[in-house]
Amino acid sequence: MLRMTQPQITIWSAALAGVLTLAAPAAAESPSAVVLMYHRFGENSIPSTNIRLEQLDAHIAYLKDGGFSVLPLADVVTALQAGSALPPKSVAITIDDAYASVAREAWPRFKRSGFPFTVFVATKAVDDRERGIMSWDQIRALADDGVGIGGHGHAHAHMPALSLEAVRADLATMNRRFVDELGAKPTLFAYPFGETGEIEKQFVREAGYVAAFGSNSGPVYGEADMFFLPRFALNENYGAMDRFKLVTNTLPLRAVDVRPRSSVLAVNPPIVSFRVVDGPELKQLSCFGPNGTRLPLSIGADRVTVSPGKAFPPGRSRVNCTVRAAGRWHWWGHEMIAGGVSEGVAVHPRHLTASDE
Ligand SMILES: [Zn+2]
Repeated sequence: MLRMTQPQITIWSAALAGVLTLAAPAAAESPSAVVLMYHRFGENSIPSTNIRLEQLDAHIAYLKDGGFSVLPLADVVTALQAGSALPPKSVAITIDDAYASVAREAWPRFKRSGFPFTVFVATKAVDDRERGIMSWDQIRALADDGVGIGGHGHAHAHMPALSLEAVRADLATMNRRFVDELGAKPTLFAYPFGETGEIEKQFVREAGYVAAFGSNSGPVYGEADMFFLPRFALNENYGAMDRFKLVTNTLPLRAVDVRPRSSVLAVNPPIVSFRVVDGPELKQLSCFGPNGTRLPLSIGADRVTVSPGKAFPPGRSRVNCTVRAAGRWHWWGHEMIAGGVSEGVAVHPRHLTASDE
């Protein structure tokens, strides 16, 4: 990864974090940013995916007044991939599923604030004119206004539950529908439900995408897997200002070489391990699993190893590792999918034979 030396940004960043010292500035780290994930706005009957309008207004006010740079998601991804500098406290805004409340509530507010954002669209719901989903006319109007449009599959399927043929077909149909309706296909993708395995990532890349997002928590960073980038989910429960302030001020815990390689588990419980590059002191590192349980971990010379001990329940489980250093939280979040039926689907048997080196 190309490293740019940007001493003025390092110093400015240190001053913002309240840790300016007379010591020589540390070598510039590769870029990082916080990516936010919303779904619905002011649809208060569905709190699990909704953000109340007064919460949204408070988020916008905080981003405006708090020294943040709200950037187009595509610019953040380009910087991550080029290793070029991003301003300190860079944030990108994403919205999944193209609900009608995006056009009605979020768009005018973000536009007034000068905040770019990206909408990840699952094309079948738009084709089917599903109630509460934007029309292609509305999506075209957003795109014409400079809003980023990203891919979110055609049928919004749990991709690890599909056969390989079905994964490929879903991506192809999505791309065709984007070309038909918008004249081009997007370059950024978000996995429906944040679920992916290794081969799904490869298929997304082969379908012409340059990066893809899950819904695991944590800031994005240059060393991260560009086809499983994290985002912080915001809904009514997770949208209160104390959490919003916490997540928007996080720095990455730069985990690399994460094992098991596929987040669709062939062995459950997994032994999760990773290396940390350019990391803070890890002595105080804590990792949490399903239901916020603290997980046993060991910090070796080379790798952090997290041993849940107890099998993860069927479906998605998250592991979040955090450590505080110099007044800032460093955060790495991972999401894994265990076999068994969850939300009416089970992972496809093809995963059970996957090698898990
Ligand atoms: Zn979705």
